[in-house]
Order: sequence, then structure tokens, then C-alpha cells
Amino acid sequence: YPFATELAALTKDYNTMVDQITQQVEELKQSEKEKNEMIGNLSHDIKTPVASLIAIGQALSDDILSDEEKQHYLQAVSENAQRITVLADELMQVTIDNESDNNEITTGEVMVDDVLIKVLNAFKPRIDHDQREIMISGLEAAPAIKANEDAVYRILYNVIENSLKYSQSGTPIQIGVKVENDMVSMTVADEGQGIPNDELGKIFNRTYRVEKSRNQATGGHGLGLFITKNLVEKLGGKISVQSKIGQGSQFSVALPVYVF
Ligand code: ADP
Repeated sequence: YPFATELAALTKDYNTMVDQITQQVEELKQSEKEKNEMIGNLSHDIKTPVASLIAIGQALSDDILSDEEKQHYLQAVSENAQRITVLADELMQVTIDNESDNNEITTGEVMVDDVLIKVLNAFKPRIDHDQREIMISGLEAAPAIKANEDAVYRILYNVIENSLKYSQSGTPIQIGVKVENDMVSMTVADEGQGIPNDELGKIFNRTYRVEKSRNQATGGHGLGLFITKNLVEKLGGKISVQSKIGQGSQFSVALPVYVF
């Protein structure tokens, strides 16, 4: 045939183009999926500080607090409001552009003690109400972490919130900080209900919750640890858990030390 070679070449070009377009559509679909996932995660995160604000509002209107307690609660109002503002900013960021924020969270110099104090302040009303003793060790010697402060805040917030959620009022929480091989390791240990051995690997999955019925009272979507693990890994860190049923759980997060 005349033009047979040209036709073959055109067909090949056409097929290449179709392949490229198909690939682009797949990439768009994937980024759309990630975007939706992030929006879901952020919406979940916003619920917790809002719940704290509602609880504080209730306590203030019941007028049962001493002046000193009121002062702490007002501090917590400001922390929680700040948290909501940060999350709302992030939500906006996600809807505008979800490619740049990966770099943003891995840069910066974060002081562990600053973040930990902010997180504990946000939980102050709950800690007081539940008569918790929070024992902290190793904080003075902790070097800075290479990360974005908001990311570290979310990580510690989620792990500490779980330790409060899944252990009885009145039982202590131990927080330990130490340096190991260029990583800052932060450990949160509770004396709570623990996690069955065969479920330890699953709790970091999206929407996984141990024994749904057991957890109904605590509320939650099984997203917290999924978000936490994603963040930790984006920062080049590791999260791990050790737990004994009926005795308690210990979550460890290791993040890279900030190097000048
Ligand atoms: P959520 O708390 O919203 O259910 P998470 O992803 O934070 O979601 O946690 C997943 C599951 O892991 C929880 O439902 C709970 O069963 C279990 N879990 C997490 N932290 C603890 C803990 N400190 N003690 C016992 N179980 C825990």
C-alpha cells in the first residue's frame, strides 16, 4: 500500500498519545484521591479541638471552677482555637494545592518541649478532670527536631489523645524523650486497656479500630493513627507500638534530629 509506513507511524504516534493521556488521567485520579483523603483527615482532626471548646464552654457556664482553673481553661480555649485555625489553613492549602505541602512539613527546627507543652495545655481541662498524673522525663536534654511544628503537634496530639482515651481516669501517663542514632525518640505510655497482639499491626490502617463495640464509648474514626503514621513517615521518622492487654500501651515516635 502507498502510505503504509506513514499510516503505521501515525498509528504508533496515536497509540503513544492515548497511553500518555491515560497515564495523566490515572495521575489526576490518584491526586484527587489523595486530596479527598487529606480533606477527610483534616475534618476529623478539627472535631477534637471543637469538642474541647464545647466541654470548656460547659464547665465555664456551670460555674464550678476556681479562678486558677478558669485561667487554665482560658489558656486551653486559646490553644484549641489556634489549633482550629491551623487546621482550617491546612484545609485551604489542600484545596488550593496539594503538592507543595510535602516539603513544607519537612523543614524547620522544632523544640520538643515547646510543642509538648502546647499539646498538654490543650488537654489540660481533660487531664485535670480525669485526675491524671502526667510524668515527663528527658525533656531538658532533647535536641530540636527537623520538621514543621504543626506536624509534630499533630503527631504528639494524636498519640497523647489516644493514651487519654483508652485508659481509665486516674491512671498515669508517662512521656519520655531521648536521643538515639540521630533521632529524637518520644514515648507515650499509658496503663490502659491495651491492644490485642494480633491487632497491633492493623491499628495504623485507615479507619481501623480495635473491637468496634468496645470503642463505641470513646468516639473516633480510626483515622488518628493513620494520619499520624503518614506524617511521621513524611518526616523521615518511625512510629511503633508495644502493648499488653489489660496492662497498657506504649507508642514511640522517632523523628530526625535537626542538624545545623
Ligand atoms: P480512633 O482513636 O479514632 O479510633 P486511631 O487511629 O487513633 O483511631 O486508633 C485506632 C485504634 O487503635 C483505636 O480505635 C483503638 O482501638 C486503638 N488504640 C490506639 N491507641 C490506643 C491506646 N493508647 N490504648 C489502647 N488502644 C489504642
